[in-house]
Amino acid sequence: MELSEKLKILSDAAKYDASCSSSCSNRKNNNGIGNTSISGICHSYSNDGRCISLLKILMTNICIYDCKYCLNRRSNNIKRAIFTPEEVCYLTINFYKRNYIEGLFLSSGVIKNPDYTMELLIKTISLLRNKYNFHGYIHAKAIPNANPNLLKQLGKLVDRLSTNIELPTDTSLKLLAPNKNSNNIYKTMNTIKEEKSKYFAPAGQSTQMIIGATTDSDKTILNKSSNLYKDYKLKRVFYSAYIPINKDKLLPVINTVPLKREHRLYQADFLMRFYNFKVDDIIGNNSNLDLLIDPKANYALNNMHLFPIEINKASYYDLLKVPGIGPKSAKRIISSRKIFPLEFNDLKKLGVVMKRASYFITCNGKYYLDTNMFKEKIIKKNLILGETSNNTSNYIQLGLFDE
Ligand code: SF4
Repeated sequence: MELSEKLKILSDAAKYDASCSSSCSNRKNNNGIGNTSISGICHSYSNDGRCISLLKILMTNICIYDCKYCLNRRSNNIKRAIFTPEEVCYLTINFYKRNYIEGLFLSSGVIKNPDYTMELLIKTISLLRNKYNFHGYIHAKAIPNANPNLLKQLGKLVDRLSTNIELPTDTSLKLLAPNKNSNNIYKTMNTIKEEKSKYFAPAGQSTQMIIGATTDSDKTILNKSSNLYKDYKLKRVFYSAYIPINKDKLLPVINTVPLKREHRLYQADFLMRFYNFKVDDIIGNNSNLDLLIDPKANYALNNMHLFPIEINKASYYDLLKVPGIGPKSAKRIISSRKIFPLEFNDLKKLGVVMKRASYFITCNGKYYLDTNMFKEKIIKKNLILGETSNNTSNYIQLGLFDE
């Protein structure tokens, strides 16, 4: 098989893995320059915020497992291909030299057994590092149930490792990924966490969960993410909205891919990682996130008794609870108010998004809006309108008969 055909098959087969960010656009190229193909090249972000483009491929789409939701499952009758280690090096080095990519995301189906698959990944990446002297970013997939020594070897060659948990509960995993075992996945994550060498996967580890392939609630998913961050020091949990590729009686029938739900989960995940929110703060007594309103605004609306917050006195963590105030603006508020008491006019310059924050704050005891606006229903309506309309005006005129 031609290398170009292998590349087509194995980059397409990798596109459903969300555990590195992807361009997700499909603009047609009518003999022009540039390409936004959803497979092939994806983007990831380094710790310092740089965007890195990666060649995103599978070593092979041959797989001995039969995960119900996966295009590459063994029961699917699809064209199969496998790269040789030299072919992966050839593609990486040549794409790098042409400035298409800066790094590599290499995943794989499980071929023969987990050890064999890991050996193939190790062979490929050591060739790339040692023979071709490639020092760019590499993200590789760790295969659960492989010998821990192989995992240690792989970790020393790459920048990031990921082990996909796929589903948040054992019951769901048994249902849709019967060949996978959560204990093996956790053992792999633990081996990665325990490895202390600074040369071992210095960009840490991540995982992916599929959203909407089972009946698992957002609360279950967020609790799982929270535990993964805590127990295995994960850098990221990626959420991937379930896309119905296969027909199977165990899979749900859906008309729309749950992208909004995926988006809300990413917002909630952000709140846990950077805003010190707990799962209960985010979701309260509900099972699922509100799709109409973002989780932070929803928290504020469910806890109106904690607001409005006085900008000139609130602690850092209380400021973070205000919709429209992020870690950067909260820090700026705290350092600026040491010099002079802040007024509403100052807040915009400090990065506060006033069209969201204004409902929930006071400055020197004054409320920004008419105090009659401080009602859950009114604020919710305005925030929802603010999110759904392209209208840049901050507020809507209250109707005569609004409550
Ligand atoms: S292990 Fe499961 S999810 Fe991974 S490639 Fe094989 S069938 Fe797909």
